[in-house]
Amino acid sequence: MSKISIIATELSQPLSWQQQLSQAITSPEELLKVLNIPPNYLNGAQSGAKEFAIRVPMAFINRMEKGNINDPLLRQVLPLAEETQLPPDGFVLDPLEENISNATPGIIHKYKGRVLLITNGTCAVNCRYCFRRHFPYEDNRLNTDEWTQALDYIRVRPDINEVILSGGDPLTNNDQRLFSLISAIENIPHITRLRIHTRLPIVIPDRITHALVKRLSGSSLAIVMVVHVNHANELGEDVADALGLVHKAGIHLLNQSVLLKDVNDSADELISLSERLFTCHILPYYLHLLDPVIGAHHFDINKEKALSLVADILTQLPGFLVPKLVQEIAGEASKTPVLHPNSPY
Ligand code: SF4
Repeated sequence: MSKISIIATELSQPLSWQQQLSQAITSPEELLKVLNIPPNYLNGAQSGAKEFAIRVPMAFINRMEKGNINDPLLRQVLPLAEETQLPPDGFVLDPLEENISNATPGIIHKYKGRVLLITNGTCAVNCRYCFRRHFPYEDNRLNTDEWTQALDYIRVRPDINEVILSGGDPLTNNDQRLFSLISAIENIPHITRLRIHTRLPIVIPDRITHALVKRLSGSSLAIVMVVHVNHANELGEDVADALGLVHKAGIHLLNQSVLLKDVNDSADELISLSERLFTCHILPYYLHLLDPVIGAHHFDINKEKALSLVADILTQLPGFLVPKLVQEIAGEASKTPVLHPNSPY
């Protein structure tokens, strides 16, 4: 093969998930330009990005409508000047007080029977409403000794039966690191279930490789993958194909969403989301009220409106497609169901 044809072949190769991750858009100018959004939004985007960096992979951008500043996917990732405004009362840096539950570096132990393992501080996408936008990931970046210490924490507590891989996004770890972590967890006799909380298959579906699916399906642990989707448009055909592989491998798929103003705060949008999730083999699990983190108050929906939306979708969907409306309250032993004041429960 001539040198030119080798280069041409290389150019036509699809990008690996790692290449897509490293080529994610990280500047407001670039994001606005690629979507044909007028430059008058640039100042706000730049000031918001100073508070919390921008990061969006192209596979996710490709599902947005060009020229539409109100696109529900764009709203989730575009920094705005509102993020820098004085927050309303109750909005704080660490709304879930995770610093208190940070038992040892890398471990958040909030709930009975399960622990969260912070596998890294990197996400493939920076969601503007993220409750961990101020989390001190640098204090939870583990060296080998700290990994051993985190696993020892789990090993000496036989009442823990489930490990939740979190982050950041645990699937941003390369396979070698991820698989050796899974093997170490499999070797703890009292752990029976592994949960993986990830948004990566949604924003870069190529992360679902055959090697990953094979390793997960061969695990001695029951594996649950909890993805994070807020709007039906996030579930393009590429995502459906990737999650189809996960489903066929016998891995349970659940979704959690956050109720977000101007993204999914209507019954029609929530219904479309549930229907589309189901066609992608994912069951709706939680619909969260926004965690009151500084910089995200413009996404807030009050409890009354949230309850009325859920009451509306209950009349239009089978029960298994209606997610549980919950909020996370710092110090509580579980997520707290958001119920109507007249509810008997
Ligand atoms: S992917 Fe999850 S952890 Fe990462 S920024 Fe988005 S919501 Fe936060």
